[in-house]
Amino acid sequence: MKTIRLLGDPILRRKAKEVESIDENIKVLIKELFETMYATDGIGLAAPQIGVSLRIFVMDDGTPRALINPVIVFRSEETNIAEEGCLSVPEVFENVERSNEIVIRYTDINGKNIEEKLSGYSARVAQHEYDHLDGVLFIDLIDPSRRFAIRQKLSNIIKQSGKTYSKNKS
Ligand code: ZN
Repeated sequence: MKTIRLLGDPILRRKAKEVESIDENIKVLIKELFETMYATDGIGLAAPQIGVSLRIFVMDDGTPRALINPVIVFRSEETNIAEEGCLSVPEVFENVERSNEIVIRYTDINGKNIEEKLSGYSARVAQHEYDHLDGVLFIDLIDPSRRFAIRQKLSNIIKQSGKTYSKNKS
């Protein structure tokens, strides 16, 4: 299992790079993403969260998927608000507004191009993970008054992160 990078680690704020070819390294990375996600009881995990700035995330909403170079090509105007958390922002759960429905295009681990319509919970997970590839965290999307209310919690995570990411620098 890989170390989860925490808020404050600069890799979480970087725009991740496109995957050029699905070689053995990418397959190993996807395996590590799944292993780390399951070991931490996550439902989604993006490559930057384990220190790799590439456009890949995995999710399991009942169907395990690895999404390579995903692009959200449609987001419904209809939205809903629900509580989210993130392995990179431990013990913080806040309401986030997301589109009810999205259409996402990606390449799967076998190099097949896929276009999928996701709704509800699955759409939420995919939107959250997709944001990670652009350096966006769910706490960026919460109400500013809530962000103010949890500022102490966030600064404690950043302090913790400073200790771990200097150790994991590669
Ligand atoms: Zn997350």
